[in-house]
Amino acid sequence: MMQRYFVEGKIPGNKIVSITGDDAKHIAKVMRQSAGDQLLVVMEKKAFLAEIRSAEFDVEVELKGEIEAKTEMPKKVTIACGLPKGDKLELVTQKGTELGMYALMPFAAERSIVKWDSSKNDKKIARLQKIAKEAAEQSHRTHIPVIHKIHMFTQLMEAVQSFDAVVVAYEEEARRDVPTRFADILKSLYDKSSILLVFGPEGGISENEVSRLKEAGALFTSLGPRILRAETAPLYALSAFSYEYE
Ligand code: SAM
Repeated sequence: MMQRYFVEGKIPGNKIVSITGDDAKHIAKVMRQSAGDQLLVVMEKKAFLAEIRSAEFDVEVELKGEIEAKTEMPKKVTIACGLPKGDKLELVTQKGTELGMYALMPFAAERSIVKWDSSKNDKKIARLQKIAKEAAEQSHRTHIPVIHKIHMFTQLMEAVQSFDAVVVAYEEEARRDVPTRFADILKSLYDKSSILLVFGPEGGISENEVSRLKEAGALFTSLGPRILRAETAPLYALSAFSYEYE
């Protein structure tokens, strides 16, 4: 299968594009490709068949025909995760990208045990962005999920305004006698394009967070009768989106 590479910037008029850095090394050293070989280039969310012109230091390619790619989820689903412990966000980033996540917005939840060190945040976000890029290449996407900086809860509440719909996966909803079915929530979103899904950390979502999100008009849902781990819940939800809309 042909390898794909995301290239930043605008598609040039002459269709000659330079691939640099790790990607150039990957093409020349790992894939052992050289002039005349073909690969896929994704620019401006469009996929192109490309032919290598030279692979000396940087790799120069010429974009040939555009390939119609239908690998993006028809809804832009952003996952807001209450900061979980350890490297769970890496798992959510990788698997979420495969499952069609549009963006990841980690937030410092009231019950988050880890308080991310602000001096290390930029490095962590850059690492997650790299994981998203590699997973997007591997899963043949044309959009690399955006990894937002860590939001404080107040910033999350500001961000809420810019989505067509906000859905909170709430463990207490799962415990009710007649829980709100996620299947029904999904069916109610056909006319919405950008959706924010909110998940709590291991300790769950606090009452204060619940009331703030309710005031902002968020919908609350169960994800079934079992309590899922903080990293499992977003992956379940994305799979369900794909099942309904793809
Ligand atoms: N400590 C919480 C408890 O005992 O109820 C569980 C939190 S759970 C590990 C982490 C997050 O995943 C929750 O805050 C929620 O957003 C989501 N979640 C997990 N299972 C769920 C379910 N069955 N229904 C709705 N949300 C769920």
